[in-house]
Amino acid sequence: MPSYDYDIGIIGGGAAGLTVAAGAAQLGAKTLLIEKEKELGGDCLHFGCVPSKTLIRSAQVRHLMKVSREFGLPSVELPPVDYAEVRKRIQSVIRTIQAHDSEERFCSLGAKVVFGSPVFSDDHAVKVERQTYTARRWVIATGSSPAAPPFEGLSDTPFLTNKDIFSLYRLPESMIILGAGPVAAEMAQAFCRLGMEVHVVQRSSQILSKEDKDMADVVLEALRSEGVRFHLNATVQHISSHGENSQVVVVKQEDGASLSLRAEKILVAMGREPNIMDLGLEGIDVELDRKGLKVDDRLRTNLKHIYGAGDVTGAYQFTHAAGYEGGIVVSNAVFHLPRRVDYTWLPWCTYSDPELASIGLNEKRAKEAGLVYTVWSESFKGNDRGLAAGEGIGKIKMLLDEKENPLGVQIVGPDAGELLNEWVAALNGKVKLSRLASAVHPYPTLGEINKKVVGAYFSPKIFSDKVRKGLRYFFQLKGRACG
Ligand SMILES: Cc1cc2nc3c(=O)[nH]c(=O)nc-3n(C[C@H](O)[C@H](O)[C@H](O)COP(=O)(O)OP(=O)(O)OC[C@H]3O[C@@H](n4cnc5c(N)ncnc54)[C@H](O)[C@@H]3O)c2cc1C
Repeated sequence: MPSYDYDIGIIGGGAAGLTVAAGAAQLGAKTLLIEKEKELGGDCLHFGCVPSKTLIRSAQVRHLMKVSREFGLPSVELPPVDYAEVRKRIQSVIRTIQAHDSEERFCSLGAKVVFGSPVFSDDHAVKVERQTYTARRWVIATGSSPAAPPFEGLSDTPFLTNKDIFSLYRLPESMIILGAGPVAAEMAQAFCRLGMEVHVVQRSSQILSKEDKDMADVVLEALRSEGVRFHLNATVQHISSHGENSQVVVVKQEDGASLSLRAEKILVAMGREPNIMDLGLEGIDVELDRKGLKVDDRLRTNLKHIYGAGDVTGAYQFTHAAGYEGGIVVSNAVFHLPRRVDYTWLPWCTYSDPELASIGLNEKRAKEAGLVYTVWSESFKGNDRGLAAGEGIGKIKMLLDEKENPLGVQIVGPDAGELLNEWVAALNGKVKLSRLASAVHPYPTLGEINKKVVGAYFSPKIFSDKVRKGLRYFFQLKGRACG
C-alpha cells in the first residue's frame, strides 16, 4: 500500500474546509489544511455572512432612530454616517470570531495548517511553492468568488463586490446594485438605511427569484417604502466610468426606452463562480460541470479519493450547507461510513427586514416538481407580538402534499430566520402537525404564527358540520346562543 504524508489534505479554510479539518483531526486522522489567504475563515467570516449581518444591524439601529416617532418617541436629528466607524465595528466582530477559526486552534485540534497556493502534481500530491504534500484523500473546499457578468463596458469601469464593500472608509453618496438576489437585497436596504441613494437593477420582474413572487414582493415593497429604487425588467445595455466617483449604467426598460442611471459606485451582486482555477485540476482529470466541481451524492469527484464540499460544488451556497457537506465528507472519508447528502430540509434566509426564510418546497419548486399541493397561510397582522413590536408586515405559508404531509414552509416577516428553526426541528424530527398544533407556545411571541398556521389547517376539520352534528347528537348541545 502506498504511503502518504497525511491521511487527509484539505484545500480551503472556509466553512466547509474548517469543518472537515476539525472533524478529521479530532477523530485522529493526520490532517493537513491549506489556505491561500493569510487567515482562515473564508468568505463567510471576511467578506460574507459576518460583515453583512454586522452592517445590517448598524443600519437597523439607524433606521429605528429615524422612525422613532412611530414608536411614540421624539424624532431624532440624524447626522451623516461615518462609515469608518461602522467599518471598525465590522472588523471588531470579524476579529472576535477569527479567534475560533485561528491557526492555533486548528493546530491544537491536531491539524497542520499551511498558507499558500497548492497545485496538484498528481492525484495524491500537491505542491505549495517548492514543498510537496501527499495525502491519501483530498478535499477541495475552495469556495466561490463574485461573478462578473459580461456587460459591455464593465471591465473598463471600477466596481465593487462583496470583497470590498465592507472595508470602505467612506459611505458613497449613491450606488447602483446589479442583481437582486439575497446579497443585493440585504445590501440595498442596509446602505439605504445608512443614508445612501440606492438603485437596484434586475432583469426579471421579481427580486429574490428563487422565492415565490408573493413572498419576495413583501420584501420588495418594504425596501421600496424605505427609498430603495428598483428598476425591474431592466436589461443592462452599457456601463461606463466618468471619473472615480461617477459611474453610469444604461438600462433598457420594459417599454423599450433607455434609462441612464448615474451613481458614485457600482456594486456587482450577480451570483458566484466556483474557485476551481489554478489548482491544476485539469492535469489530474477531475471532472467539472457548469456549476463547479462535479460530485456524487457522497461528495466524491470522479476520482473517488478526492472530495468536494461547499460553494465550489455550486449546490447550495450557504455557510450551513458548507458545514453540513463538510460533515458528510468526514463520514465518508474518515469514518468510511457511506453517507449521502440530503437537501430536503435545507433551510435558508435572506436577512432583509422583513426577513424571508424558507425550508423545503415553495410553490415555485413544487410546481416545477409537478406536485399537487395545498397552501395554508397566516399573516403577521394577527400576531400580537408583531403588532406590539411595530412589525405587522409579512406572512407564513405552509405547503402540504396530497396526503397532507408538509412539503415546505416559507416565512416573510420579523425574525423569519429564527422562526424557521421550529420548522427545522419539526420537519427533521418528522413531528406530526397535530403535535405542533397542540404544543403550548409562550404568549406573546412571533413564534405563535407557526402554531397558528397549523391551526389554520386543522380548524376546518375540527369545527366541521359533521363534528358539530355528532356532538349535538351525543351530548345534546343546544347550539348557537347569539345571532
Ligand atoms: C455578502 C454575502 C453574504 C452572505 N451571507 C450569508 C448568510 O447570511 N448565510 C449563509 O449561510 N451564507 C451566506 N453567504 C454565503 C457563504 O459566505 C458561503 O456559502 C460560504 O462561505 C461557503 O463556504 P465555503 O467553505 O464553501 O467557501 P469559503 O468560505 O469561501 O472558503 C473557501 C476558502 O478557500 C480558500 N481558497 C480559495 N482558493 C484557494 C486555493 N486555490 N488554494 C487554497 N485556498 C483557497 C479561500 O481563501 C477561502 O478561505 C454570503 C455570501 C456573501 C458573498
